[in-house]
Formats: sequence, structure tokens, C-alpha cells
Amino acid sequence: MTGPARIVGQVASAGYAQGPVHLARREAPAYTAKSTPEQELQALQLAVDSASAGIASTMGQVCGDASDILEFQLAMLEDGSFTDAAAGMISAGATAHAAWQAVLDAEIAEYQASDDASFKARSADLADIRDTVLSALSGESTQTIPPGVIHVDEDIAPSRFLSHDWSLGGGLALRRGSVASHVAMLARARGVPMIVGIGDSAIDDGADALLDAEAGELLVYPDPEQIAAFNHRRNASQTRQREADALVSHPAVTRDGEAVEVLVNIADPEDADRIPIEHVDGVGLMRTEFLFGGDRGLPDEETQLVAYSKVLAWAEGKPVTIRTIDAGGDKPVEGYTIAEDNPFLGLRGIRLSLAKPEVFRVQIRALLRAAPYGALKVMLPMVSVPEEIVQARAMFAEEAAGLASAGIAHRMPQIGIMVEVPSVAITPERFDGAAFFSIGSNDLTQYVLAASRDNARLGALGAADDPAVVSLIANVARFGLASGLETSLCGDAASDPEMIDVLLGAGLRRLSVAPARVAVVKAAVRRFARGEQPR
Ligand code: PEP
Ligand code: MG
Repeated sequence: MTGPARIVGQVASAGYAQGPVHLARREAPAYTAKSTPEQELQALQLAVDSASAGIASTMGQVCGDASDILEFQLAMLEDGSFTDAAAGMISAGATAHAAWQAVLDAEIAEYQASDDASFKARSADLADIRDTVLSALSGESTQTIPPGVIHVDEDIAPSRFLSHDWSLGGGLALRRGSVASHVAMLARARGVPMIVGIGDSAIDDGADALLDAEAGELLVYPDPEQIAAFNHRRNASQTRQREADALVSHPAVTRDGEAVEVLVNIADPEDADRIPIEHVDGVGLMRTEFLFGGDRGLPDEETQLVAYSKVLAWAEGKPVTIRTIDAGGDKPVEGYTIAEDNPFLGLRGIRLSLAKPEVFRVQIRALLRAAPYGALKVMLPMVSVPEEIVQARAMFAEEAAGLASAGIAHRMPQIGIMVEVPSVAITPERFDGAAFFSIGSNDLTQYVLAASRDNARLGALGAADDPAVVSLIANVARFGLASGLETSLCGDAASDPEMIDVLLGAGLRRLSVAPARVAVVKAAVRRFARGEQPR
């Protein structure tokens, strides 16, 4: 038995959980060989069918990105090529278990060796399929996570995360993992507390534990003092949330009477269905890369038009800022992004759009045609030189002329830019060809501190409250105020109530935040008074 410990990780999804530790079981389940190859083959088919049925039933309960992941897994299982390859090995004398393991291991190795980051990212989904079928073959269902536990694992597959009912409490502490992973995104969307990068410390299965996924720590065998302090923090957080929720539909006004606009960040158009429009001042960032890739490939003009116009109609005339595809870096898109040694510094965002005009022009036409449905603004990601704005504008103008001559309804939206590359934040005045600025604190932080945003080991280096980052944010806000160019911030820093004083103190009055953070951000705005800030 190990003793009390305070284990530190990185916050992937904020929140609190208390419960016994549930250690993921690592040993492979035992498999009993059958008497004939025919029986082995039959056992494999049954196991694949049962895995497919499990995935299909989870798919019925989720939507958006979560259902894309499961769709990929189901398509892989139903395609039959893994089963065919395993059948060949079974005919040559292998057991179903050994054959399935060998076929999937080889496939996973191939995905992992790929230079294409989107293939690499898919290898975890394939490992998930492998393990689900192997468990079914051994007659055991995949180790279930009991309700209300703090699940400790190396990493966790999206399908496993989705098949568990988190509404009964509990949380996740991952030894590796990443704040930018699929699972981290799902945990944030569902409000499941999660920390990553806790390392290899020994932890007892069943040990009493407290997960503070606001401070980023797991307290194992906590003493009475730690329990009291944890309860105090958790109760305070719940009270803050309740108070904030009560005022979520009211405008956000600082103590000295200044109005602050609070907009929302969305990805899937379905996200909008869960947000009452009265709670927000519009959409400050719609990430469109989630429409691209996956099994559906690159979306055509009509598909994009439907997605964009749905959000514009939902917004009832409030502004909707749709970002053109920001693929690359931490957001690879299969069949679109290209293999590079250093994708964060490579052909991503607007650079890739300009390099692949045949894809960009489809998105441009869909945006131009969606514009009449509401107050559309278009935002270009990863701009690093003014010439990129000029080129993008020219393409918008050409496509608008094409639509006009074909008699197709359209409108030219305002075209602004993300400020997330230091070159823009240092000299914003060179970028006044943009109609507005929105600061991307996630990328700005990683580029200013030279610390990759998806590396759990760099922890504290990724903080947007670093004085160098704050000074650049203030520089952009100052320029915005002086020149009259609308300036907002849509990175994760805006969703962090602890950062609100810093951002408002820097002069920002327009923030775009994660849906679950609207209420607490508005509450933090109401606590702010300009006169009380240190000079
Ligand atoms: C950012 O970089 O802060 C941002 C909002 O964009 P993304 O997180 O999608 O890169
Ligand atoms: Mg970014």
C-alpha cells in the first residue's frame, strides 16, 4: 500500500471530484483457443459484431465530434478488411485472438509511423477497436469504469470515455494524455473534471482520493485538513456557478458601469442548439475545421452553406464570426493537411488555404452565400503578414463577382483576422487592412513562449498570464482603441475567470468564451472595476 500523496498534473477540464481511485487494468484478458479454425473464425465474427453493436449504441447517445470518432471506428469494423486479413491467419493455424491482435498491431504501427498527424491521431481510435474486440473474444466485456470513481489510466480512448455515464460524478487523471486530445475536448464539453500528465507515481487501486481539476492535483489518502480545504474550494466553486447561472441572461457590466460583450465559441453547428441566444452577444468564433475531414472528407459548398446559415439563423441578427478553416498544427485534417516535420510552424491556417485555393474557394462561396442569413463576419486564422489579408480579400471579391454573374444571392461580409502570431501582436498597425482583430491567446502563448500547446510536460510554460503574452495582448487592445478597429479575444484565456481582470485591465471589452463558461465569465466581469486595477 502506498501513502498519502499530492500528485500534480495539467488541467484538461476544470472541476472537482471525490471518490475511490479506479486503476485501469493493464493485463490482457485470457483467451481459450477453440478446436477448429472454423470455430475460431466464428468466434472472431461474433466478437466483431458485438464490438460494432456496442459502438453503434453509444453513437445513438452522442453527436458532433464524438459521433465522428465512433463513426470512424464503426466504418473500420464494418469494412471487413481487418476480419479478412485475420481470417487468412486463422486458416494458417493462428487463434482468432492472436490473428486479430497481429492484424491490428500492424495497422496501428503503420498509422503511428505516418508523417500525417491526422493518421497518427487515429491510431488511438484503432487501438480502441483492437482492445474492444480482444475483450469480447475473451468473453469479458471491456473493464467497466464504476460510477463516481476517479479513473487513473495511461490515456483513455474516446469510445471508452463516451460509453461511461459521467452524470453520476467522478473524473479522470491520466498519466500521459494531452489537453488538446479528443478526450480532453469531450471532457470540457461535458464538464467532466480531468487532469493529464500525472506521470508514473504509484497509486493504490481503491484509495480515497480528491481530484481538484482547477488547481490540477490529485490528493491520494487526503488528511482531514486537505479534505476540509478541498470541500471549501469545491463548495465555493459550486456557489459561484449557481450565482453566475442566475444572472447568465443579463448583460455583463463592470462595477464602474462599462458594458463588456460576452460571445460564445462553437464548433459543430449543433453546439448552438444547446445555448439560448439570450445568454450571449453572438458567436465570437465558430471553428470550421470540425466540418472537414473524418469519414465525410472535405465538405462541399451546399454542406457548408447549410452549417453556416443554421448558426446565422439561430443568432437572430447577433454577430456570428466564422473562421475560415484553421487546419494544421494541433488540428490536422485527413486528406487536406500535409506531412511536415514541424506542423505548428508550417503550412497551417490561412497559409494552407492560400496554398490550396480549390478548397478555399468552396468555403468562400459558401460563406458569401450564407451572409444574407444574418450578421456574418469572416475571420482568417494564423495571419502572419499583411499580404495574406490582401490575397484572401481578392479571392472573396473574385468569388463574389462569379456568384453575381450567375445570379446567386450572396453578400460580402466583414473580413477580420485572428491575432495569434507574434508578428501581428507586435506590429498590429501593419494589419489595418483587417475589419477586426480577435486575439487567439492559445496560439499566441505557444508562439511567444516557444512551448507547444499539446505537450503536457511543458505545463506552466503555456500560461496566457505570462507578462510577455499580456503585454502583447495590451498592445493589440491599445491599437484597437486608438484606431477604432474592433478587438476581441477568443482564446481559452477569455474562458478563465481568473484572467478576466487581466484582460479587461489590458483594455479589452469583448470576449468570446466556451459555452460552459459564459455564466462565470459574466460574473467575473461584474466583479471588475477599472479604477481598482494596479497601474
Ligand atoms: C487560439 O489560438 O487562441 C484560438 C482561439 O484558436 P484555436 O484554439 O482554434 O487554435
Ligand atoms: Mg489558434
